[in-house]
Amino acid sequence: MLTGDQYQASLDDGRATYFEGERVHDLPGHPLLGTVVRNVADGYDWLALKAVDGVSPVSGIPTTPEQLREKVELVHSAGMMAHVNYTSLMTLTTAASRLSHLGEEYAGRINAFVADAQERDIRVTQCITDAKGDRSLSPARQADPDAYLRVVDRQADGVVIRGAKLHITAASFGHELMVIPTKAMKPGEEDYSVAALVPVNAPGVKIINTTYAPRHEDLSGFPMSGQEHFPEGFVIFDDVFVPNDRVFLDGETGSAAVFAHSLGLWERLGGLSSMADGADLLVGYAQLIAEANGLDRISHVREKIAEMIIHATVVRACLEAALTHAETGVFGAVFPNELYTNAGKYTGATEYNTLVRHLHDIAGAAVVTAPSVADLDNPEVGGLARKYMSTKPEVDGEYRTRLFHAIRDLTADSYGGWKQVTNVQAGGGLYAQRIVTRKHYDLEAAKHAALAAAGLAGSQAGPSRGV
Ligand SMILES: Cc1cc2nc3c(=O)[nH]c(=O)nc-3n(C[C@H](O)[C@H](O)[C@H](O)COP(=O)(O)OP(=O)(O)OC[C@H]3O[C@@H](n4cnc5c(N)ncnc54)[C@H](O)[C@@H]3O)c2cc1C
Repeated sequence: MLTGDQYQASLDDGRATYFEGERVHDLPGHPLLGTVVRNVADGYDWLALKAVDGVSPVSGIPTTPEQLREKVELVHSAGMMAHVNYTSLMTLTTAASRLSHLGEEYAGRINAFVADAQERDIRVTQCITDAKGDRSLSPARQADPDAYLRVVDRQADGVVIRGAKLHITAASFGHELMVIPTKAMKPGEEDYSVAALVPVNAPGVKIINTTYAPRHEDLSGFPMSGQEHFPEGFVIFDDVFVPNDRVFLDGETGSAAVFAHSLGLWERLGGLSSMADGADLLVGYAQLIAEANGLDRISHVREKIAEMIIHATVVRACLEAALTHAETGVFGAVFPNELYTNAGKYTGATEYNTLVRHLHDIAGAAVVTAPSVADLDNPEVGGLARKYMSTKPEVDGEYRTRLFHAIRDLTADSYGGWKQVTNVQAGGGLYAQRIVTRKHYDLEAAKHAALAAAGLAGSQAGPSRGV
């Protein structure tokens, strides 16, 4: 396994990565992006402590619901990069088995790559979402044919790909980019039916980073985003050559969706559990700030917190149901139950705004106006700021100020805005979760129950004849 120091050194490979208009030549030394490098390096060192016989504890496939539960918790604790990597490698392993109908070639290449990636202990990020151009048009009908990533040249020893993959979590901080089609393709879209593994430093790869990381020198007012942040990468493939042994699909339109579907299974490993934890955090802050403000016994405040608790509990119940009713798929691998996972993610995302609204309503304006810790330490105004931020003898002014900082950071500032959008879009939008939930729900059983309750069971008179 790599050590944190070896990971840091591995990033010095000539990769073309940009931030706010400038190329970044030294990622670990960058004032903002360097924090990300240190977090990933710490994650490597943390995992090394948990290694068994030199093998990373986040490799391997869960084969029982108990193992799945352990894996969810471990991957969650190991940090975003470990989660993205685990999901990528499991996606490839799953896809390999599902591509066996195309012969041994692709599956063999994929399995060889996964074995090598695990051996080298590298990090692989997921490049699925294309620029997509006009959303009403298919890839082949776009005005700009590069709106979806495609093969622009086929050579004896490989292919040349062109396009862009957007919003890619931590793209600049991994070693390899897993490039896969974003959706199913139709005949005529052979050039868009391409999956490949591309090193981050491959010639022609350029990554523009964006981040919600706080820009303040004093990070004490940003207890969450100041400690950990993961930039998204706008990844451009400007005619990138990919040798044949790294091409995992090329032209088979009927199999283009295999990768995205495989990813969907594993992606849910972390999504729902972080949503359940996130909802509990909002409830915790609502109760803490109500207590600090002297409002925790006021009925309308208690009602709002009760409503928040109900939403948080429903999301956690979906997580529990998804793990308890886990399903077994290829190689005996166990996945969270699709119905409960998607219903839970949807509920978590759609109710998130209600939780945040109640929290802001209860907390008051100091969410966005509380003085900084440096102001509290200023010899001229600090004492007065502490005095007026205190609400009663047992509530210290700095304690209450710091609670407001945490609430602002989590819900009302750069990171808070990022979370709001991310809850809705990441892992596919709400529409996708509605479709999957509907697909896995037993609608026939519901119709049957409704007809039976109406005394119409077995009726031949309606469109649901004989249900
Ligand atoms: C923080 C963050 C991290 C992410 N990380 C990754 C990552 O690591 N890798 C990755 O590949 N992606 C990643 N994503 C991207 C994410 O998967 C997409 O944002 C999501 O799939 C939606 O795509 P989009 O943003 O292009 O929005 P759009 O596709 O433009 O969708 C916007 C809205 O339009 C609707 N819509 C779009 N097309 C149609 C249509 N034809 N008919 C009807 N309705 C339509 C959608 O349902 C949605 O409501 C990330 C996103 C975020 C916010």
